Amino acid sequence: MSSLAGATQDEVRRSNLSLVLTLLHRRGAQSRSQIVATTGLNRSTVGDLVSELVDGGVVRESAGVSGGVGRPSLRVEPVAEAATVLALDMRVERTVAAVVGLGGRVFSRREQRHAGESQDELLDQVCEIARHVLAEGPGLASWVGTGIGVPGVVRTDDGLVRFAPNLGWVDVPLGDRVAQSFRSSFGGERQVAVRNDSDLGVLAEQIRGAAADADNVIYLSGDVGVGGGFLIDGQPLVGAGGYGGEVGHMRVNPAGGVCRCGAIGCWETEIGQDAILRKSGAATLNETLDRASGGDAQAQQALAEVAQWLGLGLANLVNIANPQTIVLGGHLGAVYAAQPTVVDRFVDGALPAPREQARVVCAALGAEGALIGASEVAFSGLLADPIGVLARAEKAS
Ligand SMILES: [Zn+2]
Repeated sequence: MSSLAGATQDEVRRSNLSLVLTLLHRRGAQSRSQIVATTGLNRSTVGDLVSELVDGGVVRESAGVSGGVGRPSLRVEPVAEAATVLALDMRVERTVAAVVGLGGRVFSRREQRHAGESQDELLDQVCEIARHVLAEGPGLASWVGTGIGVPGVVRTDDGLVRFAPNLGWVDVPLGDRVAQSFRSSFGGERQVAVRNDSDLGVLAEQIRGAAADADNVIYLSGDVGVGGGFLIDGQPLVGAGGYGGEVGHMRVNPAGGVCRCGAIGCWETEIGQDAILRKSGAATLNETLDRASGGDAQAQQALAEVAQWLGLGLANLVNIANPQTIVLGGHLGAVYAAQPTVVDRFVDGALPAPREQARVVCAALGAEGALIGASEVAFSGLLADPIGVLARAEKAS
């Protein structure tokens, strides 16, 4: 056999291992028959792949329950503590950190509220909380990756946060800074993937949430600002530098207010939390929702106006991206739940053909979307090449 043919066979094997481990990571324990049915691989190939993953320590087999006549099929499940990742979600008001195992099990989790720290202090705090959750996890030997979500525009190559207006950040080298801190604390090459939090949100909702198995998804995060994450034909929309999908800064109202980005009339100025509070006169979103459900006309009007702007922008996105599922996170989910007919009526302004295919839903993962997405990005290297990554991790530890 020529070396080229050998290499190709290796590639096929690696890709099949990736397919099987990704399935187990996302769906949990499966019988061998289920793996055969889902992957389309034949039974003996699946047997070989499972054996190799068992040898690698990332899956285990146990006697399953018989689903009918004949021998019970073996249950194959991911070993959560065999491979873990560090996931961080930097929000405007707090940082959340977790160590997550293969299959999605959370081993440790911490939150730290921000209290007006300087940029340097905040970066130190991120490294500090990371060391704490790692110490509470199953150990550094299983640590295969790190993902961080940030509410801003991120250069994905090196994790430079170009612009995070709600954190007050411009060109902050978050990825390099955290990787350097980990190298000095723990040694080894520590890759850190930094992503926009909405890009992580769409990934999480597609893998484990409200857009399960949809390949064309738009996710809108509703926090202090409004971010957008897109999956187009199963691939994240990143753009030339990683900056794509900033729908919160679509300019929708020339007569609108000044946005944190400096422009006038961004969508965020019409559907962000501040817009709701400004219109309702309430101190919090919950107070607005309570007042509206108690019959307060000003609160109801505020939600209806925001619902109109929300539906109008969504209609444009439906025409541009032809999504199957639009997932509304944070306060935007609450606006939709309060005023679904207003939002839907404005989404109906889209062209009929893409409108028919678009389903608007509230996020299933609540505020955890970006954190779960960060863990998925951190697992992507292992899932693409399970045996190669484990071999390298073993050498490094
Ligand atoms: Zn803006």
